[in-house]
Amino acid sequence: MPSEFELIARHFTRAPPAGGAVLLGVGDDCALLTPPAGEALAVSTDMLVEGRHFFPGTDPEALGHKALAVNLSDLAAMGARPLGFTLALALPAADEDWVAAFARGLLALADTHAIPLVGGDTTRGPLNLCISVFGSVAPAQALRRDGARPGDEIWVSGELGAARLAVETLNGNADFGALPDAAALRLHRPQPRLGLGLALRGIASAAIDVSDGLLGDLAHILERSGVSAVVDADAVPAGSALASLDRPRRQAFALNGGDDYELCFTAPAGRHQQVIAAAGEAGVPVTRIGRILHGSGLQVVDATGQPLAVASRSFDHFAEP
Ligand code: ADP
Ligand code: MG
Repeated sequence: MPSEFELIARHFTRAPPAGGAVLLGVGDDCALLTPPAGEALAVSTDMLVEGRHFFPGTDPEALGHKALAVNLSDLAAMGARPLGFTLALALPAADEDWVAAFARGLLALADTHAIPLVGGDTTRGPLNLCISVFGSVAPAQALRRDGARPGDEIWVSGELGAARLAVETLNGNADFGALPDAAALRLHRPQPRLGLGLALRGIASAAIDVSDGLLGDLAHILERSGVSAVVDADAVPAGSALASLDRPRRQAFALNGGDDYELCFTAPAGRHQQVIAAAGEAGVPVTRIGRILHGSGLQVVDATGQPLAVASRSFDHFAEP
């Protein structure tokens, strides 16, 4: 069995790219990072626990991808540029094949977004993956949750709901038959929208990444901004993997599904064309799904403006089942 130090040396130690923000990476007591002058450090942590956030026996390469993707999604939602990340890993055993596959998935995504692994911790324990990401953004350009204003348009990137279909299928829900490839891909290989987040700086008034379901996550923007919203459920882009579902189920998955890792953001109506241009620059489709209003609360309507009774229920790990 390899030791903790052999695992780190073999799988998690690479020289940071020259000229980047990392002065010192894996191997010392701390990593040293220098954010660009005038920019604030953007810091976020997300943990994945076996049996809670992923199914036991999940492909380790996919897990490596996802553990980093969900963290990068938070940088994207802040409009931050990635600088580096740390990895805290609890493993039941020093299974070299498992660690190699995990590192492959993890570092492939890290390379895609040019974000180096700069440190971490490795211990024995129930399988648990915790990543912290460090990015940078000029304070005035950060896409915070509290900037939405009445009159702003509400947008969402990509498509929603497919990851939820995958979770239902893997849970053995008999209503849904075999797992469509497109849905499995959305659950296991979410693509963090970093390019879009960067392109929306100076244009979007508020942003959040959709991890717990669109309506619940949008509600966080509304609360923090002190505003209300109307959302057109028929405008919300449901994933093509949901095409065979009936309309209420498709809508429920798109509105409340979770695990989507798309960006939900607001922007002044006068910046509509700038939003379209930013999305084009980032190569990510965006859809206008509603409008910010005065007051509080969230109303969901259909394309004709009729109110729909859709419960907005964000995922809560401590909620009663
Ligand atoms: P310390 O006990 O001083 O915290 P460790 O023995 O835990 O040091 O780690 C040694 C070095 O390896 C540190 O630089 C640490 O950041 C790094 N490291 C440990 N585990 C990981 C990991 N899973 N991924 C990346 N770097 C790691
Ligand atoms: Mg340590």
